[in-house]
Amino acid sequence: MSFSDKLRTIYQEQLNAISDAGIFKKERFIHSQQAADIEVEYPEGAGLKKVINMCANNYLGLSSHPEVIQAAHEGLDSRGYGMSSVRFICGTQDIHRELEARMSEFLGTEDTILFPSCMDANAGVFEAILTDQDVMISDRLVHASIVDGIRLCSAMHDTFKHSNMDHLESKLQLHSDKRLKVVITDGVFSMDGDCAKLDEMVALCEKYDAMLFVDDSHSTGFIGKTGRGTHEKYGVLGKIDIITTTFGKALGGASGGCVSGRKEIVEMCRQKARPYLFSNTIAPVVVSGVLKVMEIISENTERRDKLEQNSAYWRKGLTEAGFVLKDGETPIVPVMLFNAKLSQDVSNDLYNEGIYAIGFFFPVVAKGQARIRTQISAGHEIHHLDKALEAFIKVGKKYDILGKSKQEIIEMYGL
Ligand SMILES: *Cc1c(COP(=O)(O)O)cnc(C)c1O
Repeated sequence: MSFSDKLRTIYQEQLNAISDAGIFKKERFIHSQQAADIEVEYPEGAGLKKVINMCANNYLGLSSHPEVIQAAHEGLDSRGYGMSSVRFICGTQDIHRELEARMSEFLGTEDTILFPSCMDANAGVFEAILTDQDVMISDRLVHASIVDGIRLCSAMHDTFKHSNMDHLESKLQLHSDKRLKVVITDGVFSMDGDCAKLDEMVALCEKYDAMLFVDDSHSTGFIGKTGRGTHEKYGVLGKIDIITTTFGKALGGASGGCVSGRKEIVEMCRQKARPYLFSNTIAPVVVSGVLKVMEIISENTERRDKLEQNSAYWRKGLTEAGFVLKDGETPIVPVMLFNAKLSQDVSNDLYNEGIYAIGFFFPVVAKGQARIRTQISAGHEIHHLDKALEAFIKVGKKYDILGKSKQEIIEMYGL
């Protein structure tokens, strides 16, 4: 057997195993701009179908906003297409620094450094600021990019049970001998839509001289009264040592991320964070778009207010219809189905009804926790939500799960 045949065999076996396990991810091709109404080709070659998008991170409905597109055009014309350099060689424009200042002002921090993505921010920050004399104590449900950042860092790693403050306190006591302790959490957890208890976490960090790291990717722009994030909601603005967030979700949805916080930490990242030093930063066209997004959301709170109202409306509608939801008050509203195949069947039937909402199951969520994660946007109008609700109810009736408890659904469909 030739080497290339051997390689093909090795990988085909693994791909078959993924398929056999029922977790092969198929992509759906969107032929329109990202918005509440999209045109999708699925399956491939089936022609275009108009559907309502209920699973984008387009929380503020800014992904295809005309003013953002206009600003991106202007950025393209004035600052060009590419930088062809990393920041410290010749890849820094005035607008990169302007966006960093804008983010510090918005997040209430001392300084900010841009990264190609929030994945890169999380991958680079820990290694840049910690040594083997330090410890990282993370919530057990933090995002995959944080898990990778932790792996790349020589500091000791420990975890605490999800949002369990007693457990966190015991870990802070256990590691009291370390030079630096960093407590690590998501602000809003993406799969359940619940918030970290940042007020209690700040108090614990103060009590035990620990730093607090918050990844606010699912929160920046809309959580808190003026959308600054989870720290605003919990009244701890200015008390988070390190915030990471993305421009790939509410803030226009293109790409890019940042680390924001204490100025010495930001400077350490500029000197040492490898994804910053060895990868191009955000393209000028995107920086220009994000600057416009920051201007729009700083003018007034209309969009985050509408998002809050839409989310409450959607949650109430699903609850009254008799679905089992995860409790919460964010635009992430998981409809619990528990069984993996049921989540796929419901998702497919919804698609046939013109509703785009993907089913999640193991390993994306824990076994027996399969769900359809719906995500609400300020780009949704009430007629979108009403139509989606109608479809959910029709499909819910088909599978006889309306008004059924978790236990009853599990008895009907198994885990
Ligand atoms: C989406 C997400 C990221 C990754 O953001 P990118 O900018 O797309 O790399 C990181 N952390 C959390 C919590 C996220 O939800």
